[in-house]
Amino acid sequence: MKKRESHPHSMHKATKAIHMGILEDSIYGEVSVPIFQSSTFAFPSAEEGAARFAGEQPGYIYTRLKNPTVHALEENVASLENGFGGMATATGMAAISTVFMALLDRNTHVLSTDSVYGATRVLLESEMPRFGVKSTFVDTSDPEKIKKALQPETRMVYVETPTNPTMILTDLGAAAKIAHDHGALLVVDNTFASPYLQRPLEYGADIVVHSLTKFINGHSDVVGGMIITKKDDTFKKIRRVLNLFGGTMDPHQAWLILRGVRTLPLRVERAQQNAMQIAQFLSRHPKVAWVRYPGLPNHPQHPLAKKQMDGFGSMICFGVKNGLQGGVTLMNNVRLITLAVSLGGVESLIEHPASMTHTSIPREEREEAGILDELVRLSVGCEDFEDLREDLEQALDKIP
Ligand SMILES: *Cc1c(COP(=O)(O)O)cnc(C)c1O
Repeated sequence: MKKRESHPHSMHKATKAIHMGILEDSIYGEVSVPIFQSSTFAFPSAEEGAARFAGEQPGYIYTRLKNPTVHALEENVASLENGFGGMATATGMAAISTVFMALLDRNTHVLSTDSVYGATRVLLESEMPRFGVKSTFVDTSDPEKIKKALQPETRMVYVETPTNPTMILTDLGAAAKIAHDHGALLVVDNTFASPYLQRPLEYGADIVVHSLTKFINGHSDVVGGMIITKKDDTFKKIRRVLNLFGGTMDPHQAWLILRGVRTLPLRVERAQQNAMQIAQFLSRHPKVAWVRYPGLPNHPQHPLAKKQMDGFGSMICFGVKNGLQGGVTLMNNVRLITLAVSLGGVESLIEHPASMTHTSIPREEREEAGILDELVRLSVGCEDFEDLREDLEQALDKIP
């Protein structure tokens, strides 16, 4: 990597997004990192090959282990999170599953936020027990509930904040203290906030995972994941398992995401400005029953959002009048806003969990996790606010 005058931690975050992850030793001085589409790298000699394998000499060996384009992205995101290092993965789920496989042994226990990303929950509930790993799901927004649910075998507290799709926050500092007092690690899925708005390692988390698919790439055109650790020992442990299990990233994928991350600050600033205005507009609309956005003073954890986040982000959830039918009507009448899952792209996306993503969960269980029939999730994009408002207005007006 290019040697910078100042330590990466001393740069401000928008500068890091643009300047971190640049190749140091190219003779051409290219400004964009090239796509190193090579599966293997030649050794100058047998001795140097041996030295690279022994880790005594820098240099690349084989793309599953390390690739220049992928490494540039790892440096970039790790610096944004103020971490020791980053490990890029094929998808967000590859990042999450690799962390579990690397750090959880037989007869250990994970304590997790109840409304974690659906696939993470299925992984913990249905797959990890095959390896002797148990899990419990609690409302981590209440530190007392975390404390009470700890078991002697708890080795990991796994948190998402804000949660999907309910927009509930967990106090990262409190969660880190509880985990550490118990000898457990705190792992945070920081996909929803992005490192531009929230850096869990600064609050004591040991590991951060990301679906780069969302805000960091930001263009709804590629999937990817990242693991960032605070310390070198956890980094080495996870890197080893990632290399062996093989869920690493492809250079072309890394190049696209590196291109996306350069504008993360601009996109997040623009989208959250839109989101605040949309949240206020929705709060006043007669067909909207309630709005939950961390930037609104009526959000139950508005003060916590102000404390641990640099901004309130662009994810909103709200309840429409007329329950399930109201949600379906809204989905079928938006024109500009796209009816799709995923989030964090430049375009606004809307989804209705009760009729779309969460239909397989029985209604009672859904409601227990706060996913009511009337709940709509909106990922606000970077369009002009007036166009978004008009689209929402005409579609909301059609709700009976
Ligand atoms: C999308 C998402 C994931 C999974 O990421 P993929 O890139 O789809 O594998 C994990 N956590 C959160 C919060 C997500 O939104």
